[in-house]
Amino acid sequence: MTTGFSFERTAELANGLGRAGVIHTPHGDIRTPAFVVVGTKASVKGVVPEAVAALGAQAVLANAYHLYLQPGPAIIDAAGGLGRFMNWPAPTFTDSGGFQVLSLGAGFKKVLSMDSARHTSEQVIAGGRDRLATVDDDGVTFVSHLNGSRHRFTPEVSMRVQHQLGADVIFAFDELTTLLDTRVYQEESLERTRRWAVRCLTAHARLTGERPERPYQALFGVVQGAQYEDLRRMAARDLAAMTIEGRSFDGFGIGGALEKENLGTIVRWVSEELPADRPRHLLGISEPDDFFAAIEMGADTFDCVNPSRVARNAAIYTADGRYNVNTAAHRNALAPLEDGCDCYTCSHYTRAYLHHLFKAKEMLGPTLATIHNERFTVRLVDAIRRSITSGDYAAHKAEFLGRFYARRIASNA
Ligand SMILES: [Zn+2]
Repeated sequence: MTTGFSFERTAELANGLGRAGVIHTPHGDIRTPAFVVVGTKASVKGVVPEAVAALGAQAVLANAYHLYLQPGPAIIDAAGGLGRFMNWPAPTFTDSGGFQVLSLGAGFKKVLSMDSARHTSEQVIAGGRDRLATVDDDGVTFVSHLNGSRHRFTPEVSMRVQHQLGADVIFAFDELTTLLDTRVYQEESLERTRRWAVRCLTAHARLTGERPERPYQALFGVVQGAQYEDLRRMAARDLAAMTIEGRSFDGFGIGGALEKENLGTIVRWVSEELPADRPRHLLGISEPDDFFAAIEMGADTFDCVNPSRVARNAAIYTADGRYNVNTAAHRNALAPLEDGCDCYTCSHYTRAYLHHLFKAKEMLGPTLATIHNERFTVRLVDAIRRSITSGDYAAHKAEFLGRFYARRIASNA
C-alpha cells in the first residue's frame, strides 16, 4: 500500500539517537529536524502564508479543538482541507485537541512544556466546582471556552474531526496529565490513553477507507507517562507494537508533562523504544536549549507557540539572547532587530520603527516581530540539521548556546 507518507534518515549523531532526515507527505517534503510553525486557528497570527513560507517554515500545525469549535470542521472539509482553507500549500499537522480539552479541566495555563515550579497545586487542581472538562474511560466532556456550550470528545470524534480537517499529520487522542498527578493516576491515565490509541487506529483505518481518493493522512500515536521512565518506555513499546487491521502508527508524538531539566532524558527513553524508521514529534517546547536537548535524543519535528506569542509582546529573539524592543533603549536605534538576520523584517525595518509600532499599538508591530522570531527559530533548527549532516553538531551546540545564554547570565549577575 503506498500512502505518500514515509520517513527517510540521511544522517545520524554518534549517540545513535539524534538524526537528520526527510519526511515525505502528500503535500511535500519536510527536511528534519524541522520546526513546525503554529497556526492554532488556521492562521499564523498576523502573518500571511506567503510570508510564513518566505521565512523558511516547512509545515504549519493547527489545533483540532479550536477548529472544531470555530468555524467547525465541515466547512474546512468542504474547502478542501486545512491547507486549502488557509492557503498553505505545504504540509500541515493538527494536534488532537486532547491537550486543549484537558487543560480546561486541569485549570492550568496553556503552557506546553510544563514546569511544575510555576504551577501551585491549587492552580493545577483548581476546579472541582468550576471545572471545564471531565475525563471518563470513554472520552472527555467539556465546556466551550467560547460560549459555554457542552461538547464531548472521544477518540472517534477526534479522528473524525481530524479527517475532516485533512492535515498530512494527525495525532491520536490522548489524556493529558500533569506532573502533580499521583503515580497511581498516571498509570490509570496511561492505560486509558493506550485503549484510546487502539480506538484511534481503528477509526483512522475506517475513515481512510471511506475516502480513498483523498491524500493520505499519517496518524501519530502519542507517548505519555510523565516523568516516569518505566511508564514512558512501556507506552512507547505498546504504541510501536500496536497494529489494527494491518495498520500501525506512521510516527509518534511525545506528549504531556515534561520538566525542562528532564526533557532530553525523557526523549531519550522514548527514542530508545520507538522504531528508528518512523518520525517523532515533540509536542510543544519553548526555548533554544530545548531544541538541542530534544534533537540530540532523537526528536525530528517540533511545534512551539513561543516565538509568535512573545513577539506579540515585543520580545525579540537574537543569537545573543532575548530583549524587548518596546523598552526605551530601542527608541532611537536605527539598526535592525538583529544584526545579520536575513528575515524580511530585519531587511527592511529598524528597531526604532518596531519600537514606535508597539508604542502606537499598530497591528504591524506584532506582524513584523513574529516574522523575525519565527525566522530565528526556523534558522536555529535548520542550522542544527546542517550540523548533524556535516558532523559538527557538538561544536555548533556549544557555540550557539554559549552565545545565546551569555548575555542572560551577564544580565542576571
Ligand atoms: Zn530578523
